[in-house]
Amino acid sequence: MKRVARLFLLLLFLAAAVTGSFYLYLYTHRNSGAVASALLAGFTSISPYKVAYAGPDSDPLCRQAYAFVKNNTGVCFIENGDSSRYNPQENIVYLTEKALLADSAEAVHEFGHALDRYLNGEESGYFSRGETFSQAYALDCARMQESFQAQDLFEAETYRNLAISDILFSVFYQDTAMTNTLIASYNASGVPYWRHDENYMSGLEKRQTEVFADIFVVLLSDDQQAQNFIQEFLPESKEVLHCAVSKREW
Ligand SMILES: [Zn+2]
Repeated sequence: MKRVARLFLLLLFLAAAVTGSFYLYLYTHRNSGAVASALLAGFTSISPYKVAYAGPDSDPLCRQAYAFVKNNTGVCFIENGDSSRYNPQENIVYLTEKALLADSAEAVHEFGHALDRYLNGEESGYFSRGETFSQAYALDCARMQESFQAQDLFEAETYRNLAISDILFSVFYQDTAMTNTLIASYNASGVPYWRHDENYMSGLEKRQTEVFADIFVVLLSDDQQAQNFIQEFLPESKEVLHCAVSKREW
């Protein structure tokens, strides 16, 4: 009788194990939404995405402009965790000391806003909101909204560039489906990304200003793939930025 009970318990255990494995399989293979499984697979093997700024591989003209802007713009240090920002009325960038010393992406982005103001004639206001940049940005957006495929982006590495993510959320601000795909893909990949506050970005001129600073970030970096991305999708805006920078002595 004892033997029968033991056999029964063993069978019960086996049945529980098989059922458990089945439900575990269903759980781990569940449909998680808009993200391709290849992208989810990448979650466990993320290596750091290192980008260096203002070094020898960056655009020489932008490097000169960056050095000038850095020397002629006020800096106010903020605590870790506070948002970095630029105030055009004061001509002051708000950054952590660490970001400033490292020429981080945040630092270059904020000094990019200061550069935008200098290009406007050193008055409060931005070059990126004038007619030339506005037209270039509109043209790039129209083309990009036609040809850009999120899947291609997430199959390569460029999506990991912070400035590129910010550009994507600006260009596709009014495209809810693409915005949701981007958010889902970034969340699934587990890599950090930039996206400005949704309310702030509701104004087209704000999006132009942010994209201007982001293009400057890419041009001042050693990220060749991100530079290729800009050349492919934002050639007009890049050309207008570069042309404006080249017309000045720095
Ligand atoms: Zn900004």
